[in-house]
Amino acid sequence: MITSTKLENISETTQLERILGTYTGNKPGPNLIAFGGMHGNEPSGVIALRKVFQEIHSYQPNFNGKFFGIACNLGALSAKKRFIKSDLNRIWTPENICKVSDRSNSNLSHPEQYEQFEIYHAVQDIIKEASGPLYFIDLHTTSAESQPFISINDTLRNREEALKYPLPIILGVEEHLEGTILNYINHLGHISVGFEAGQHDAPSSIENQEAFIWTTLINIGCISEYDILDGHVYPERLAKTTTEGKKIFEVRYKYTISEGEEFTMKPHYVNFQSVRKNELLASNQHENIYALEKGKVFMPLYQKQGDDGFFIIKRIKWCWLQISTVLRKGSIHKILPYLPGIRKHNDLDYALEVNRKIARWYVIEIFHLLGFRRKILKKGHIIFIKRKHDFKGPELE
Ligand SMILES: [Zn+2]
Repeated sequence: MITSTKLENISETTQLERILGTYTGNKPGPNLIAFGGMHGNEPSGVIALRKVFQEIHSYQPNFNGKFFGIACNLGALSAKKRFIKSDLNRIWTPENICKVSDRSNSNLSHPEQYEQFEIYHAVQDIIKEASGPLYFIDLHTTSAESQPFISINDTLRNREEALKYPLPIILGVEEHLEGTILNYINHLGHISVGFEAGQHDAPSSIENQEAFIWTTLINIGCISEYDILDGHVYPERLAKTTTEGKKIFEVRYKYTISEGEEFTMKPHYVNFQSVRKNELLASNQHENIYALEKGKVFMPLYQKQGDDGFFIIKRIKWCWLQISTVLRKGSIHKILPYLPGIRKHNDLDYALEVNRKIARWYVIEIFHLLGFRRKILKKGHIIFIKRKHDFKGPELE
């Protein structure tokens, strides 16, 4: 049941613990792992997870599988800052994971690396024990006022899961953000959905997080909406939070703030606000910053920490999505290395290198359609990597 809650000071009310809750159902089934507080100034996910665990433990509904809640940046949550030394949601790179994977490694250089070490081993322990499929959700909020939305890496399996929520879906954020925890989870092959519940300090963000967690438990089959009080209320609540409905958008552009840049977003922009080409969006100490193309502004930055200034997104049509599903399942991508200007990458698995001087037209669009993510852009060449586990999950041991 959703009750109105003020944002409490989570560090003062109780000692903040890494594992916010666990629940094992009376029948086998899927595993849901929920991350809250990946950014320390976004406590709503942690508060909502605690409330949902309290309710599940007190009502004990019929439950298939297991449910785990993990609090992420404990130090930054106590300090109420996005992070202490480095952004915990940008350090899940292969090199860092290699460092924290050794349980005996005591040589961790900064506070977020220690948080990452604990989260990594908590997740690995859950994966090792799991008998059913694994689903991950990552609960966030935004600095600007925003209606809630979902963000996923564009695999067909993630799409199918994301389309069960009555919310707008953003594809392709991962091409612009290296080292997020969901990039890592996707690489392991598990279904994962990021949720942005609204503005950091809005009480409604906690209610949206709660509704999202319950809806996820229903969608993946842990509980039936008829087995919990007001089960139908949660998806209905989510549907009411958005004017965009179940539309899918793709990231077209990201403005990255450079070191030393004094970036200021022009006031009053909100997520999904339409912008014209060449509209003045922001400025720095040297110049004005304009929209390079028409679309909708997304995640405008109104806080001091972070280097993503804003994104521009565009809607993807349903027919485009359906064509892409058919093409991906038909493995059309296998002909790509035989086309002019495209060759297999020498060192990377599942990767193709494209020479933009030869292959000029709709290159990014076609590679997206076929399930590739854009990786590196250098000297007229783009490297695209095919997403593994696009429509088939990993084998469980
Ligand atoms: Zn966040």
